[in-house]
Amino acid sequence: MYEPPFTRDRDANERLAARECDACGWVSFPEFRDICKRCESVGEWTDTELEERGTVQSYVVQQRLPDEFETPLPLAIMDVPQTSGGDPARVYGLFTETDPEHIDIGMKAEADFRRVFDVDGLPVHSFKFKRPRGDRL
Ligand SMILES: [Zn+2]
Repeated sequence: MYEPPFTRDRDANERLAARECDACGWVSFPEFRDICKRCESVGEWTDTELEERGTVQSYVVQQRLPDEFETPLPLAIMDVPQTSGGDPARVYGLFTETDPEHIDIGMKAEADFRRVFDVDGLPVHSFKFKRPRGDRL
């Protein structure tokens, strides 16, 4: 039976499910690969879960996008720790509820799981990053 990718990947979209390379500890998120991007081993992976809070490593503020997107729209590269320790995962994510002027390298941000759109009447959930509640300006 045909399943759209966002349905197949639902588990990874309602919590930050990732996989850690058993050979070198590199964390794959969200894509599940057979070959490790860091050590190139075709090895074993262990399921892992990420914290819902990470640190901004870099970001861009998108100013020109198709009409259906609200701009300016920040997109960040985050380092997000695993709940069990080990290396953090590098996660790309859109920001929401955060003034682009208040985003900076090194700031903490948390994943906010939400309904992002509907397809054929079914909600599709994913996450966006935002400043943690206590850190709002
Ligand atoms: Zn590896």
